[in-house]
Parts: sequence; structure tokens; C-alpha cells
Amino acid sequence: MSVHSKLYEGKAKILYATDAPEVLLADFKDDATAFNAQKRGSIIGKGAINCTISSRLFQQLEAVGIKTHFIDSPAPNQMRVKAVKILPIEVVVRNIAAGSLCHQTGLPVGTVLKQPLVEFYYKNDQLGDPLLTRARLYLMELATAEQVETITHLALQINEFLTNFWQQCGITLVDFKLEFGLDSQQQVLLADEISPDTCRLWDTAEPDSNRRVLDKDRFRRDLGNVEDAYQEVLQRVLQVVDSKN
Ligand code: UDP
Repeated sequence: MSVHSKLYEGKAKILYATDAPEVLLADFKDDATAFNAQKRGSIIGKGAINCTISSRLFQQLEAVGIKTHFIDSPAPNQMRVKAVKILPIEVVVRNIAAGSLCHQTGLPVGTVLKQPLVEFYYKNDQLGDPLLTRARLYLMELATAEQVETITHLALQINEFLTNFWQQCGITLVDFKLEFGLDSQQQVLLADEISPDTCRLWDTAEPDSNRRVLDKDRFRRDLGNVEDAYQEVLQRVLQVVDSKN
């Protein structure tokens, strides 16, 4: 497979065209950003770790019938994906209160939610990815009502699967962000990545509120040992996936 032109460079990935028009190559970078790119840095090995974790999770999700953009992973930091039109919506699913939910509602960090909360944010860096209401989502024509129903249903199904998967890793899935895209048949596919960059992951056995953090909050909050945490998550994912095969 020969790789063609660079189509897009984002904060964490570069997308390349390939010789097949319906196939793109995503190259995962070590660059890390937070707070709408006001904080920048690098997490050594992150590209390969996030790509490998994402690839394994997409494969697991495909196996239970969730359609994703994942094709294969030709190198540890590279993923071949189906070309999709990404919906400009960040779908966040929360099981435990953390981050912006706590800042905006006053709920204490760690509050277990009675049921998962699905939220939509407008994927727009200039506006700082604001929280959307359904009415605003439709006003902006970011998705159709049918797509919103599909995405909500998928997000809850994915949450159920991932909560159980991370539990097998000894990790509590606090919250995470998903992105969806439309293929050439307008079918909704899970896209982007699922990794410690996009999930809040707490070491279930660790009571200390800083030491338990195994995700990008270590970078956001300068908690140190960021690389070690990402590596730890990768090892646990590989162990659980390998034990199933
Ligand atoms: N998230 C993400 N990308 C974003 C915003 C959030 O991957 O641009 C993830 C984040 O890692 C967390 C979840 O979505 O797992 C909820 O994030 P929150 O709204 O609490 O925002 P934050 O506190 O990260 O700014």
C-alpha cells in the first residue's frame, strides 16, 4: 500500500490518503495537548500506545457487532481506517462525575451516576467545544434526529461493553469521548480513537485520588509518570485481549 498526500493534521493524529480512495491511514503522534491546546507537550511512545489500544478495542467492539472505521494496524502507531465524514459532535459518556461535569454542576468528583449520562459537545476548537443542547444541535444541523438516536444508542452500548472490558483490566471507566462518522452509504460508524487520551481511567484497586489516575489527566494536572500510566494501560489491555484469544 503506498501512502499519498497528507490530508489533515490534527492535535494527535495525521491523516494520509492511500491508493484506495475509501481507505485512509491515521498516524498517531506523541504530541499531547490539553485545555483547547493552551497546554502542549509530548508523551513519549503515546502514538504507538494509543493506536494499539484503540485498534484492540475497535476489534473487540466489531466482534460484538459495533461498526467502526477500523480496518487494520500496519504499524504500532498507524491505523488504516475507512474514509468517513466525521460528524462535528463529540459524544461524551459519563459513569462517574469528573472534569467539566463537576466544574459546571458542582457535583463532587467521584460521584457515581445513577445511570450513564450521554452528552454532546460541538466539535469546534475556535468556540472551545461548547456543550450542546439537542435544540442547538438541530438548530446548527450538526446531525439528523435519526442520527442522534443511533449515536445515543451506540454510545450506551459501547459504554456497557467498555465498562466491562476495563473492569477486566482492573480499571474503572469514569467517562470517555467518542466521535462518529458517516461512510459513503451514510451508515454511522464509530471513528477516531478510544485511548487514555479520550477516556478517564482509574486504577480500581488504588484508593489515592492522584495515584489512581491512568489517563491524560496525569498530563493535564501535572501528576507526573504520564508515560508509565499509558504503558500500564497498554499492558493490561494486551493481557485481557490475549487471555480471550
Ligand atoms: N475528552 C476528549 N476530548 C475533548 C474533551 C473531552 O477526549 O476534547 C474526553 C476527556 O478525556 C474525558 C471526557 O471526554 O474522558 C469528558 O471530558 P470533560 O467534558 O470532563 O472535559 P475535560 O475536563 O477533559 O476538559
